[in-house]
Order: sequence, then structure tokens, then C-alpha cells
Amino acid sequence: MSARDSSKALKEIARNLGADLVGIADVAYLKGIDSEPVDLLSRYTRAISIAVKLPDDVFEQLVDRPTPLYSQVYLNANALLDQIALRLSGYIEQRGFTAMPIPASQPLDMTEFRSHLSAKAVANAAGLGWQGKSLLIITPEFGPRIRLVTVLTDMPLVADRPLKNRCGSCTACTSACVAQAIRNVSTTFHYASRDEAIDFRKCADKLVGEFKMLPGVDKPICGICIKVCPWGRKLGRARRTS
Ligand code: SF4
Ligand code: SF4
Repeated sequence: MSARDSSKALKEIARNLGADLVGIADVAYLKGIDSEPVDLLSRYTRAISIAVKLPDDVFEQLVDRPTPLYSQVYLNANALLDQIALRLSGYIEQRGFTAMPIPASQPLDMTEFRSHLSAKAVANAAGLGWQGKSLLIITPEFGPRIRLVTVLTDMPLVADRPLKNRCGSCTACTSACVAQAIRNVSTTFHYASRDEAIDFRKCADKLVGEFKMLPGVDKPICGICIKVCPWGRKLGRARRTS
């Protein structure tokens, strides 16, 4: 099978498993980013980025903090993503190639929120969306209302191209941030460090020190910069697709 046909088949399988968006990154775009272990990427040529959309009403209900409902939906989406990544990895291995699923949202430490590999960086390189001023991946289809997972592989696949940043002069996330952490700085591809885009400590302190303690939430999530992004809002999306 040609790389083009393999890519098409793989994306179709991921969609049949429940993915809403699938993109393929050339690992060369990820050179130099943090990973655990440090040579994690060395065996692979492609990184597959898979997104599942979260329901709009979960975000529309948020006012200034996460809700128990959002917390549970967040968990469910991660579980679905991990299932998709696992099954896709099995499909790749059956065809004689290697595959490594990177679990969705599994921070290795709760201070710096580092993980094995940034799913956002992979999604950015795979052309799923651009990195917005909030550091979130903003997809043209669903804005930031998605969760992500990654599968690394050496399967010959056609890589997708990164998208151009379309934040423009928007300041919605900067104005709405409950920790006044977003700096309103844009990037053409990705930020050199997350502190270039946001005051990470302010955001993390809010999530760990306050939101994680809310009854029924139990994890460091927020959702406000996801809610307000115009690319994700139901009305904006309807206008763009009509
Ligand atoms: S997650 Fe919350 S605190 Fe952090 S940048 Fe977004 S709105 Fe601000
Ligand atoms: S709210 Fe506006 S500035 Fe923030 S990520 Fe979305 S489009 Fe970009």
C-alpha cells in the first residue's frame, strides 16, 4: 500500500473508532521539544494526532470555574482517546510497523504539568489547529473544544502541514482568563516556551490551589479560555460553515 493510501486508511479507521479529527505530523517538526524519556522520538518518523470533540453545552454552562460535569466529561474523553490510540497502535503493528500510544493527559508531575510528550505540540505540527494565545490548539472545526492523544510510529505516512495562526486581534481569552495569566502574545508556529504566552505559575496556582479542590472536580482543570474562544462557540461555528 502506498503512503498516501495507508494515511487515508489509518485516518478512516481512527474516525470509525470515534475520532473527530486526525492529522499526521512529520517528527522533524518536533525536534528539540521536551519528552520523557529524552530520546522518545528517536525511533519514529511520524506522530499521529487524534482529537475528540467535547460537547458544547459542557462549556456553555461554565461561568468562572470548572463543574463536576465538565470534570467527568473530561475523564470520559481521555478514556475514549486512549482506547482509540491503543486500537490504532494494534492496527499499525499488525502491518509490521512500530507504534507507541502516548496516554492522554497523564502528567508526570503536578507542579510543572510535564508529560511524556506534548499532545498540543503534535497537534500543531500535524495541522489539526494552530497554537492560540491561550496555548490551546485552536481547530477550525471546533476551536479548542477538543481533547487530544498521540500515536508515534515508523509507518510510512504522508505528513499533513501545519496551519497558519488565525487568532488575529482577538483578545477573548486574555480578557476572560480567571487568573489574568494570558499575555495576549501571538506566535506564527509555536511559542519558544509556554511562559512566552501565559504566566504559567498564575494559571497552575489557580488550577491546583483552587479548582482541583472544588467538590466533584478533583483535577486541575479550568475550561474558561476554552469556553470563550470564538472559534469554538456554537454560533460562530454555524456562521463559518453556512
Ligand atoms: S486555564 Fe483558566 S487560568 Fe489558565 S489560562 Fe485558561 S482561563 Fe486562565
Ligand atoms: S480566544 Fe481569540 S486569541 Fe484566544 S486562542 Fe481563541 S482566537 Fe486566539
